Amino acid sequence: MKNFPGYKCSLCGTEYLQGQVTYTCPKDGGNLDVVLDYDVIRKKFQPEDITSRTEPSLWKYLPLLPVDEPQGDSTPLHAAGWTPVFALPRLAKSLNLKHLWLKDESRNPTASFKDRASAVVVTRAREIKAEVVVTASTGNAGAALAGMSAAVGQKAVIFAPKSAPQAKVAQLLIFGAKVILVDGTYDDAFDLSVKASNEFGWYCRNTGYNPFTLEGKKTAAFEIWEWWIEAHRDWHKQDSTLDDHPPLTIFVSVGDGNIISGIHKGFKDLLTLGWIPNLPRIIGVQAEGSAAIANAFHANTEIITPVSAMTIADSISVDLPRDGVRAVRAARQTDGTYITVTDDEIIKSIAELGTMGVFPEPAGAAAYAGLVKATSLGVVGSDHPILVLNTGSGLKDVRAAMRAVHSAPIIEPTLDAVKRII
Ligand SMILES: *Cc1c(COP(=O)(O)O)cnc(C)c1O
Ligand SMILES: [Zn+2]
Repeated sequence: MKNFPGYKCSLCGTEYLQGQVTYTCPKDGGNLDVVLDYDVIRKKFQPEDITSRTEPSLWKYLPLLPVDEPQGDSTPLHAAGWTPVFALPRLAKSLNLKHLWLKDESRNPTASFKDRASAVVVTRAREIKAEVVVTASTGNAGAALAGMSAAVGQKAVIFAPKSAPQAKVAQLLIFGAKVILVDGTYDDAFDLSVKASNEFGWYCRNTGYNPFTLEGKKTAAFEIWEWWIEAHRDWHKQDSTLDDHPPLTIFVSVGDGNIISGIHKGFKDLLTLGWIPNLPRIIGVQAEGSAAIANAFHANTEIITPVSAMTIADSISVDLPRDGVRAVRAARQTDGTYITVTDDEIIKSIAELGTMGVFPEPAGAAAYAGLVKATSLGVVGSDHPILVLNTGSGLKDVRAAMRAVHSAPIIEPTLDAVKRII
């Protein structure tokens, strides 16, 4: 098992050793940050020692993770992360932006950002010799846990709301997890999975509960850091008048708030190591019907008041976000903000990203919908370099995608019939 100093509560600041706690702070239920030995890392590694590693996966960043390299042959668990970044020149033009990119997390092994968290949690589960892992999920976290578990022969139990999109439920079943559909919301499934975990001694992956999910998710920040070193250099080559330009702004959709907190943590790790001079701007996007974190941000508080979530973007449909406090801070401490978008704006964004060859699920498209709104509100300027995350594949929710387009005509198989509709 990898040695790391321990954990620190994000609410009360209490520090714990590795063996003392497993999930959240025993005093106040606060989310725990994994504490790394930054002095040791700084002495042992230069940034180039990391960037020159050749693994095309999140395991490239092993020296900055609190787990050891997963054992065994190459599997989907070994392949999580290292997703591509694409330029979106036509959409940039339509939004009057100079520089717009998208990092496509739908290319992870089970087609969502959640693979980053699940790869690291399953690796941790193997290290502590957990017999069974469990999670509550709106679909993607479960698919990722089931897929990463299947890859290495780990037993997994998944609790999902019975309303989860069919493709996500199919993934759970195909990966051979024990799937339990709950007649209730994601929040009901969450509470039930924690009870079951305590009752049966299962190792619980729940988002905003297990501190290792954040450690997996932070690897996206490391990839963005590496990509930006290159992209930024090219950018300066093209335009030598650029001297003092605005920082990179990252748009990410937010449900429980664990992805945005993970990205923040990754950049904070790099800042603590002295490997970057400052943090990028991080802007969270929530669905209007599921906006507990955005509400807290704009009310200037860290108290998260639950909502009755209602949105087509099932992956960010959350009554009580489990990582709300850190998610508020991710925007507040980076000069970012929160934007809310309607379901119609989300659906429209699915089709707009489609015109660039990217197929997002609704929660993935929400980040882009947030950018569209941010440009109209003047939250970002036309010279701001922007990176949008697509967090999940449109193939996971085809029904939502079909709402973004006209259905195709059906014709008899003759050229005349083709001529009539062309
Ligand atoms: C889980 C998820 C999110 C939101 O992540 P949180 O950590 O819950 O904020 C966004 N998009 C997709 C596709 C997801 O699966
Ligand atoms: Zn605490």
